Amino acid sequence: MAAHRPKVNQHVKAALYEQAGRKCANPGCPSILLELHHIREWHVYQTHDEAHMVALCATCHDHVDRGDLHISDDDLYHWKGIPRVTRPTAHLFVEPGPPPALLLGSICCRGDSGLTVFDLSGSLRLGFVVRDSDIMLLALRVSDLEDNLIVEVVDGYVRSQDPRIELEHRPGRVTARRVSTVKVMPTWAKLSLLAADARCRVEELPVLDLHVLEPGLVRIQGIWMERDKGVVITEDRLSFLHRDRPHPITIMGAGKKSVLHFAGPVSMSLFKLN
Ligand SMILES: [Zn+2]
Repeated sequence: MAAHRPKVNQHVKAALYEQAGRKCANPGCPSILLELHHIREWHVYQTHDEAHMVALCATCHDHVDRGDLHISDDDLYHWKGIPRVTRPTAHLFVEPGPPPALLLGSICCRGDSGLTVFDLSGSLRLGFVVRDSDIMLLALRVSDLEDNLIVEVVDGYVRSQDPRIELEHRPGRVTARRVSTVKVMPTWAKLSLLAADARCRVEELPVLDLHVLEPGLVRIQGIWMERDKGVVITEDRLSFLHRDRPHPITIMGAGKKSVLHFAGPVSMSLFKLN
């Protein structure tokens, strides 16, 4: 008769996830959906011993037992020993499809080989390029008002090292939220947004939200601010703000059917902010 197998203790599970850097322990694998593997098989040892367990994704787990490119126990112990700095990282994959586009509020911006939507200061910019039919968001940074980097996107990887920011992610969606006070918008900008839309819940807007809706289509919300100007994208609108203007310039459409098609080079911005 099979022995009763108790659940793995939550602390052991958390420690093993942390040890693997909250991703598959295989240094060649980006997956973040994890399961635990017993290097010393349960049916022989009948113990959930942290020292002989490792966090792997289902695919790598499968390769431990099967496959021509076998993963050995030596590999697994080696992977367990890799020192890892856990910093929240999420990868956003976009399935290739029709000409790629970004849905910004309720307007869709399309560029066949890429597009820079705006470029505030070289680093505060939004856009994408198409590489080998993969859609890649341009190097994208979100800073607080003291110019501290709080979230960045590089080659589809979303990272945050700021403890005031929480990255929530599942395949196809990454949201960066403020968990404690972090100033991302000056008061004049909040007033400007409220002047245009009194129902806007300014304090609850995500710092950055990336959501793959369809092959080639990513919905983006976020806050990009400099001292005197900025861009805020909410669920239904794309707003350009300037300190000298009490109201933002707002662009609204009818959703993904409203398309702005940009035919210029990726190096040129669709919107200029002066
Ligand atoms: Zn893996």
